[in-house]
Amino acid sequence: MTYNFFAGPAILPKPVLEKAAQAVKSFEDLDLSILEISHRSPQFVAVMDKAEANVRSLLNVPEDYAVLFLTGGASSQFYFTAMNLLGENETAGYIDTGTWSNKAIKEAKLFGNIKVLASSKDKNYSYIPKDFDIPSGLKYIHLTSNNTISGTQYQEVPDYGVPLVCDMSSDIFSKPIDIKKFDLIYAGAQKNLGPAGVTLVIVKKDVLGKIERDIPTMLDYRTHIAKGSMFNTPPAYPIYVSMLTMEWLLENGGVNAMQKRNEEKAALIYGEIDRNPCFKGSVHADDRSRMNVTFLPTNEAFVEPFLAMAKEARCVGLAGHRSVGGFRASTYNSMNIEGVQKLVDVMQAFAKKHN
Ligand SMILES: *Cc1c(COP(=O)(O)O)cnc(C)c1O
Repeated sequence: MTYNFFAGPAILPKPVLEKAAQAVKSFEDLDLSILEISHRSPQFVAVMDKAEANVRSLLNVPEDYAVLFLTGGASSQFYFTAMNLLGENETAGYIDTGTWSNKAIKEAKLFGNIKVLASSKDKNYSYIPKDFDIPSGLKYIHLTSNNTISGTQYQEVPDYGVPLVCDMSSDIFSKPIDIKKFDLIYAGAQKNLGPAGVTLVIVKKDVLGKIERDIPTMLDYRTHIAKGSMFNTPPAYPIYVSMLTMEWLLENGGVNAMQKRNEEKAALIYGEIDRNPCFKGSVHADDRSRMNVTFLPTNEAFVEPFLAMAKEARCVGLAGHRSVGGFRASTYNSMNIEGVQKLVDVMQAFAKKHN
C-alpha cells in the first residue's frame, strides 16, 4: 500500500480507479473502450449528464448557474474569467495569496483594471489577508480559496458585499459552500476531483453577455453553455473519471462527510506538527489548509532523511514546493485517516531517532 501525498495530479479513490481501468478495456457492454467511442454516443452523453448532475447535487448548485467541463486547465480560467466578465473600463479586485493568484492577476490585467486589494507576499504568503478596504464599483473580487503551494486556505467564504470569482482548484468538494456568493467558480480537476485534462466551471448565467468585447467562440462561456460542454470534443475520459469520483463522494456522504473527515485528518497531522520537536508549521495557524499541509523541519538537515524514512514507509509526494521548502502533505478527499496516521507514525519514529 503506497500512501499518495502528491499535490497534483493527486490521489484518487481505489474503486474509482478500478472502474476507470475497466472502462478503458470495455465500456458498459459495448465491447469498445470509452477511449474509442463518440462523445455524441448515448453512452457518453449519459456520462456528461451524470457528471453535471453530480456537481449540482454535491454542491446544491441553483438552476440559474451553469455547470461546464472545459479544457485548458485552471490556468486558462485566469484569462477566460476576466475576458468574459470584465469590461475594458471596469475594475475587479484581486486578493494576492500566492503563486496562483499572481498568475490570475497577470492575465486579468489584459482585459480591464485590476486592483490588488490585499497581499500576503510580505510574509511569503503564510497567511490570508483579512483587514483591507473594499473600494466601491468593483465588478467582482477574485480569490484563491486554497493555496496549494503555501498551504493556506480561507476557512469561510469572505463577505465583501461584492460577487466573488474563485479559483477552487485544490479544495472544491472538500466542504459545503454557498454557491450564491459566487458569480463564478473554477477548478482544475487534478487536485481533488479527477485526472488532469478537464476544468470544472460553475457560472451564474446572467452575469454573462454584459460587456462589449468580441470573444472568440471557444473562449466564450455562452458557447459551452449552449452546447452542454460539447461544442467541440470534450475531454471525455477525464470527465468520466471525475464523474466516478463524484459518485464516490455521494456514496460516502457527500461534502458534509468530507468536511468532517478532512477536519479529522487536519487535526491529526497539525497536532503532530505542533507536538513534534523535529517539525514546525509554516503558515498562520488560523489559515492552515485542510488540503495541503505545509510544514518545515526544525533543522534543515532533517529534510532528506525524513523524506527517505517516509519513502521507506511508502508515504510519497511529501517534498515541499521549492518556493516554501520543507514538506507538504496533500490530504485531499480521497486520502483516508489511515494514510494520515501512517505519516504521523513516521514523524514520531523520526523524532525518536533524531531528537
Ligand atoms: C494547480 C492549480 C492551478 C493550475 O491548474 P492547471 O489545471 O494546471 O492550469 C491553479 N490554481 C490552483 C489553486 C491550483 O492548485
